[in-house]
Amino acid sequence: MVSRETASPQPHRHNDADKKTTPDKRSIFQPILKDAMRPQAQASLPAPESLPMRIALPLSALCIAMTFAAAHAGDGKIDYDHQDKWQAAHETQQSPIDIVTHDAIDAKADEPQALVFMHTHAPMEAVDNGHAVEVETHATEATIRGRHFALAQFHFHAASEHTIDGKHYPLEGHYVFKAQDGRLAVVGVMYEVGKPNAQAQAVLDSLDHKRNAPHDIDVDALMPARHDYYHYLGSLTTPPLTENVEWYVMPTPVTMSQKQIDAFLAHYRHNNRNVQPLNGRPLVHSAG
Ligand SMILES: [Zn+2]
Repeated sequence: MVSRETASPQPHRHNDADKKTTPDKRSIFQPILKDAMRPQAQASLPAPESLPMRIALPLSALCIAMTFAAAHAGDGKIDYDHQDKWQAAHETQQSPIDIVTHDAIDAKADEPQALVFMHTHAPMEAVDNGHAVEVETHATEATIRGRHFALAQFHFHAASEHTIDGKHYPLEGHYVFKAQDGRLAVVGVMYEVGKPNAQAQAVLDSLDHKRNAPHDIDVDALMPARHDYYHYLGSLTTPPLTENVEWYVMPTPVTMSQKQIDAFLAHYRHNNRNVQPLNGRPLVHSAG
């Protein structure tokens, strides 16, 4: 069985949603592009002006010679005659990650930041999809940083996949939102032991086909009241691990009773992918 999170999102690198994240991307890719365009031989040598004059002159001459050789060998050039040999950068923007709160940068105040959930009361059916407890529900909508998304499904991982300053929570919910153009945005919610959660119970009762199990769910009651979040660009956390997924991890945990958490753990107690390296990606914190 395949969850919708594992369904490949359509490639969509030139849509409006991307334009809105352009400042982030620019900061990642511009230094890389500059490095790629710079001949390697020149890049690896110290700048001539930092050397004593008597060795700087021969080195400068050497630099010019090596730069010329490198350009001749095709370094830094794009071969349009063999486009089938081009390779996309991949597997460097994976999820989940450890959210190091100290390293997060504040979201820009002049861009829309809010996560707004609408029509959160919706019909649902909970299923065991073979690797997670998943809830099929589609009526919930969201405006995420000013763009419209619809909820495709949500599911639970134990323990949490994201960690916050190294800390795991017993459960993490992934609310998988899809935009009209196929873009995926996943909202991560942490669950900890505390007061029982009636909507979590509704999920468990639906899963177990209990008589009188509710057919509706209020997704809002499974989310924290505070909508602050850590945002970064990552991937699906299950194969095919497709990248270019927007992540919004909410650090304020929501409670379930120990009994409820144990009921989820009875289905899956280790369906969390290990944390992946951030690889220089910006981690943006927003107060919501
Ligand atoms: Zn997930």
